[in-house]
Amino acid sequence: MLNIGCHLSIADGFEAIIKQALSIGANTFQFFTRNPRGFKAKDIDKQDIKNYLKIAKENNFTTVLAHAPYTLNPCSADEAIRVLAKNIFIDDLRRMEFIPGNMYNFHPGSHVGQGVKTGIQFITNLLNEILKPEQTTTVLLETMAGKGSEIGSKFEELKTIIDEINLKDKIGVCFDTCHVYDAGYDIVNDLDGVLEQFDKQIGLKNLKAVHLNDSMNPFASHKDRHQKIGQGSIGIKTFEQIINNKYLSNLPFYLETPNEIEGYAKEISILKNLFTS
Ligand code: FE
Ligand code: FE
Ligand code: ZN
Repeated sequence: MLNIGCHLSIADGFEAIIKQALSIGANTFQFFTRNPRGFKAKDIDKQDIKNYLKIAKENNFTTVLAHAPYTLNPCSADEAIRVLAKNIFIDDLRRMEFIPGNMYNFHPGSHVGQGVKTGIQFITNLLNEILKPEQTTTVLLETMAGKGSEIGSKFEELKTIIDEINLKDKIGVCFDTCHVYDAGYDIVNDLDGVLEQFDKQIGLKNLKAVHLNDSMNPFASHKDRHQKIGQGSIGIKTFEQIINNKYLSNLPFYLETPNEIEGYAKEISILKNLFTS
């Protein structure tokens, strides 16, 4: 079975979001833990969570993915911004325990001129401070396009971060198809080669989720502009290969394409029809 969903708004709560996901044929979804361009979060509504967990169980929902705000930069040169990132992280992971056993994805951040080494040091320090043995949430580093001074556009950088983490079973990677292609990994002509490289440098056992996005820009453009599935430079054939790939087919897939709900429903149905594994 294809585990697939898309990015949805949590504005109306967990019960509303899971009902919306089910209505478009999804068995998972991604959501922002708080305002993606700010930091405001809604209070946890225990009744809403209770209703959500019941619906999730009845419908065999798979793992869901939370996404940290874009504005969070764990490797900023400004200490106040790093402290803010840490506090958001702690609060988000506390909130995630209300829906135990799921995943929390974040962008490793931008080193803003301090250099990759310093940036990575800030990220690993932060993760080692906030990850707890008792947490049930897996924290995912997202593969990035390499826009500006973004860390995480090279598999080696993600590997260096993971190597420094004490609680390795709490950490994983989310593979974003648009970002990886924009970063210069040719998933169109050599998906197996890219995955082999991922395995060698990070380890496929650390791969926990896939963001399915086509790209508005050509290979290795370092741009990060998502396109609808099949309408960008990656193309539908590659998405067919990705969802059916033996190393990927069991993972949860999340669409982050420029769509309203009807567009997501259509893409989910197209991908389900292409799934043969
Ligand atoms: Fe992201
Ligand atoms: Fe993404
Ligand atoms: Zn992106």
